[in-house]
Amino acid sequence: MIRVNISREMAWLESSNLKNCDIIIPSHILAGLTKRITLMLTRLKRPYIVDPHTYIFGADVEHIDDKRWFSKLVADYGLDVIITDPDNFELLPNLLVDNDTQPTDNLRELVENVINYQRTKIQETYDDINEFEGFDENESDKNPSFKPKWIIPPYFFISAGRKDWLPVNINSIKLAVENKNSNEKIFAVIMIDKEMLPYEKDIDEIVAEYNIDGVDGYMIWCAYMNENSAKEKELLHFQNFIKKLAIHKKPIHNMYGGLFSFLLEDKGMTGSSHSICYGEHRIPFSTGGGGMITRFYQPYLYSKVPLTRMEEIERALKLKKCDCKYCVILKGVNTPGEELALTGKHFILKRINELKEINSKGIESFLKKLIDVNKSAMDNDKTGAYSNFYERFSVWNQILNK
Ligand SMILES: [Zn+2]
Repeated sequence: MIRVNISREMAWLESSNLKNCDIIIPSHILAGLTKRITLMLTRLKRPYIVDPHTYIFGADVEHIDDKRWFSKLVADYGLDVIITDPDNFELLPNLLVDNDTQPTDNLRELVENVINYQRTKIQETYDDINEFEGFDENESDKNPSFKPKWIIPPYFFISAGRKDWLPVNINSIKLAVENKNSNEKIFAVIMIDKEMLPYEKDIDEIVAEYNIDGVDGYMIWCAYMNENSAKEKELLHFQNFIKKLAIHKKPIHNMYGGLFSFLLEDKGMTGSSHSICYGEHRIPFSTGGGGMITRFYQPYLYSKVPLTRMEEIERALKLKKCDCKYCVILKGVNTPGEELALTGKHFILKRINELKEINSKGIESFLKKLIDVNKSAMDNDKTGAYSNFYERFSVWNQILNK
């Protein structure tokens, strides 16, 4: 699944002729780019889900309250009815569950609004565009019907030191299941702090609490964990968490993961989502942005490298060059925008081929390739200057064989 955040990424997807991937739309992006996203989904004709992004309202929101999307979501989710003091805009667990951890009317309203937002936003926007502007003939089917592939109940962040959101999350999921139509699926988000992973008691509690009848699957967000830089112990704890959650025999998707998550398939991970050449981990509550440099996914190193250092790294590690249709023209382009577009489309192509390979030849054979990359890179990298780009593969190999 690909998570889109920026208009230009939507254009890349539209020109990539996607057949196998689904789209994740974060609701704060949908609130800001409603029309553009609706156009993209009309053209792509791919399944999609809307990530309701509710956790953001359970945090200190002072630094984002000037954003346009924020007030739009506040209105669409009915949060302005729940929080009546605009000078002290803070969503607290005790507004949503009572002392006996039963849901309040506020929570019932919130769950209904968040679900309806996902159900209707794209269709309503499509209908508006269709009525007032119309579509090009080749852009749209006659009467497309927009329904998300699954629906996500409101979710909030749980850390080892702050579990007061847990009953809110659990009640939200139960209310969403009550509200579910016969043709809908409910996927529950489990957003936990990576610091919780080593504590088996906490993890067992989470796994037991989220075992809810009527839930069709899980999306997990292990906040602050980066599978590409995580140490062995951390990845091992993460793998154990997935194995435990898999006991419920429901699909599990990593909301922010990459190759390592895809290789966890036989441990219980069904799939993973990320953005185009970034977003394989995510730090919540950060203001983000700033200083983005163009990264190139070196397909024989299975790693993102700064585009400006691509040739140096390829030479040092004696890597083959990519000869895909985008890389062939990459050398001749002059603008950062063109470079970004080509490296983005190249990444989509490579990732789709990697997943095809994992599916057809199996995890073991893919892992063997990563080990070979590790060995040959180590041989060529005498000083270890580039170890960040390959040493993780030997760690992954040890963990995945446990
Ligand atoms: Zn390429």
